[in-house]
Amino acid sequence: MSEKFDLPFKSDMVPEMLDLGSKLRFRCHKGISCYNACCKKADITLTPYDILRLKDRIGKSSTDFLKDHTVPFRMDKEGLPGVKLRTNDEGVCLFMNEEGCSVYKDRPTACRYYPLGHMSMLTTGSKTDETHYFLVREEHCKGHEENQEQSIAEYLKDQETRQYDEMNREWVQLMLKRRSMGPTVGRPPEATLQLFFMCSYDMERFRRFVLSDSFRNTYDLDDETFVALEKEDVVLMQFGVRFMKQAFYGERTIPERDGVWEKRTEERKEVWEARRQAEIARQQQEEDEKYKDA
Ligand code: SF4
Ligand code: SF4
Repeated sequence: MSEKFDLPFKSDMVPEMLDLGSKLRFRCHKGISCYNACCKKADITLTPYDILRLKDRIGKSSTDFLKDHTVPFRMDKEGLPGVKLRTNDEGVCLFMNEEGCSVYKDRPTACRYYPLGHMSMLTTGSKTDETHYFLVREEHCKGHEENQEQSIAEYLKDQETRQYDEMNREWVQLMLKRRSMGPTVGRPPEATLQLFFMCSYDMERFRRFVLSDSFRNTYDLDDETFVALEKEDVVLMQFGVRFMKQAFYGERTIPERDGVWEKRTEERKEVWEARRQAEIARQQQEEDEKYKDA
């Protein structure tokens, strides 16, 4: 059994699984008849690192970027919050202009991968995930009719996905782990989902939280770390993943001041037990409903 998390690219097409050595016949260039067609039907899910790159590119805070350029959605049935690039009513990406992509050097992960999708999978019992690729063939995309052939690895190198993959990795693993734990952890309460949103996407709000007195009184971090969290977005984003591991799974990823951990562990036991009971009740209710229908 395995759990998977799609770093999504949505398509109705049936995926063909590929690896880095697989050949890809594809070329996209300015002279092609479909130029920009893909950006006119944009369904782009953003990662935390995508947001950092884009908000810096256009000179906005994360909070303003989220407000002006994204739409929220739920990534799974448990309501994990995600964000997509905002489009106009016809589905055209707001970053598209006649020349092409106005944010090309900082375009999101999904735009770099297209026409590939990729999927991380965590096999039960394994601590590391595996990445698989699949080809998205859409009628409007004529790049598949071009003669250029390269391996998936070559294509991804050309698209400069490596830095994005490295930056996204821990965040993706966080979700894989959540899924691999299944219903035993129960559905996250709304406050946890909001925490996930803040730590993942809204660096200004997360920074205020991390620099607050209550946070400093709880976590045992040195001054140098607080300076880095104040000044560097990437450090803050990576810290956000560590913080979520602690908040969601009880992993001791951030040192706490004396006595805080023990107190929290006691509280957590009660909360997890309450969630477990609520989940059992929910499943029981679903069973009862089925039985009633029968
Ligand atoms: S960000 Fe750029 S590449 Fe991605 S959909 Fe928008 S215009 Fe196209
Ligand atoms: S070839 Fe495909 S990816 Fe390139 S512009 Fe056309 S639709 Fe977009």
